[in-house]
Order: sequence, then C-alpha cells, then structure tokens
Amino acid sequence: MDIQFLGTGAGQPSKARNVSSLALKLLDEINEVWLFDCGEGTQNRILETTIRPRKVSKIFITHLHGDHIFGLPGFLSSRAFQANEEQTDLEIYGPQGIKSFVLTSLRVSGSRLPYRIHFHEFDQDSLGKILETDKFTVYAEELDHTIFCVGYRVMQKDLEGTLDAEKLKAAGVPFGPLFGKIKNGQDVVLDDGTKIKAADYISAPRPGKIITILGDTRKTNASVRLAVNADVLVHESTYGKGDEKIARNHGHSTNMQAAQVAAEAGAKRLLLNHISARFLSKDISQLKKDAATIFENVHVVKDLEEVKI
Ligand SMILES: [Zn+2]
Repeated sequence: MDIQFLGTGAGQPSKARNVSSLALKLLDEINEVWLFDCGEGTQNRILETTIRPRKVSKIFITHLHGDHIFGLPGFLSSRAFQANEEQTDLEIYGPQGIKSFVLTSLRVSGSRLPYRIHFHEFDQDSLGKILETDKFTVYAEELDHTIFCVGYRVMQKDLEGTLDAEKLKAAGVPFGPLFGKIKNGQDVVLDDGTKIKAADYISAPRPGKIITILGDTRKTNASVRLAVNADVLVHESTYGKGDEKIARNHGHSTNMQAAQVAAEAGAKRLLLNHISARFLSKDISQLKKDAATIFENVHVVKDLEEVKI
C-alpha cells in the first residue's frame, strides 16, 4: 500500500507543486487505485507515474473548491481513451454538487464516456460510514473550512493470520486437504492419533492500516477523531508557525496545528501537503523543523513522491 502525491500545492499551481490530488495505491490489496481530490492537471501528473487511469476505481472529493476538482472532467475523459482496455465503472464520493459539476462539464463539452460513473453525494447530515467493502471501510466527517469540506478515514480490515506451513510439516501433517482445514481454524487428528490444534499453527491476525486524508481545514476536533491511531495522517499546512490568525481567517491550518492534531490523535506519521507557493525550499525545511517540536515523525511531501504505508 502506497500513497503517491500528485499535487501538493495550495490554491494555484506553481512550477514545483501542482494543485491537490493524491493516489492511494491499493494494488497488492485489491488491484485498485483510489484518488483523493483531482485538481487541474492531475492527469498530466499521472502521466509521470506508473498509475493507469483504468485502475482508478474510486475518487473521493474533500470539497468543491476549484483547486480540488477542476481536473475531474479532463481525467474522466482521458480515462475513456484507453480504447483497447476494458472499461470499468467508476465511483465518485463527494459533497452535494459534485454530480452536477461533473455531468455539466461532460454535457456542455459533448463528452461521452464508455463507462458509468456512480455518484455518492453527501451533506452534513449524511456523513459517517460512507463505504464498506470486504477489505476496507471509509468514514467521512465534516471539517472546518470556508465551504463544506470533509476528511476521510480509510480503515483496512484486519488481515487474517497466515498458516505456518513449515511448522505443520515438522509436526508430520501431510501436505494436502488437511492444510486447508487447519487454515480454516479446524483442529484435526492425524492417522497416528496426533491432535493438531489449528490455533498453534496460524499467526494472530494483523491489524489493518488506518489512513487519514483531510481536506482543507482549520484546526478542529473532527480532524483528531478521524486520525485516531492512524498509521498515516495527511494534513494540510497552508501556513507556517506564527500565522495561526491568518490561517483561521482563511479556513486553513499551520504546520504547528497539523502537528498538534497528529499528537492528540496518537497518529504514527504526519505528512504535510497543501503547501503555499510562498514557501521557498529553506522555508520548507523550517516548516518540518518547527512541526517536529510537537510531533517528531513529520515530513513535508513533494509532487510525485511515493510513501509506503
Ligand atoms: Zn479549499
């Protein structure tokens, strides 16, 4: 499981940072890629990665500001051009209005897609668990921005324990159907009367990963709730230390507030994105240094950077 950052800038693109988008690559888990936000030019960034647009099965939108959604019509249209590949449906999750934005853009530009889009719109009253599959559950909660904006908590379900085949062989269990029974948790008796307790040969289930991806927000308790015990918290850092007042006025956070959220939530790792073009590279290292005084495991991400989870 990896996160690849496609756009890490705030508000408008700069040479170094495109506007918001990131890909949660779940290729080993479910052979899918989930996009979070899709600012203008996201499809160009994807061209610089190994991500195949057809593998993008779900897109989660945090809010309807242009720097988070203007890339959708272009991405959706280009996804249709992979003519020799199977066309798979796509799900879009986001605030009410996302459906009308996408359908209007496609209609007035005469774009016809050879696949279906299923929209899942929500508002303040329909948040909570927005998706559950056999491997993942996704929750959304309202943040505190200048328009309705949400954060997402992606929870992988616990992974089954694995069978210790070497230990079974050593215990004299012949390779074959008995292995399957034991893997299913069934105790068995061998021909020579030896009792094999399944639990002794299966490792404990491993806890699934928790990934929290927030949209633009002031510091709010909802962010902490979404990030409780997260393996990774992706948090905006539009402003730096000392800019708390201006951040509040514009509906954003500073690096210090992001670090406080990570610390309060007991997250394991903090990745800062939504970085203003005002910051030069020396400011970026300062952003990290200052945030690290509150939460040590922090990193300011760059466009196209890939982070293993
Ligand atoms: Zn915004």
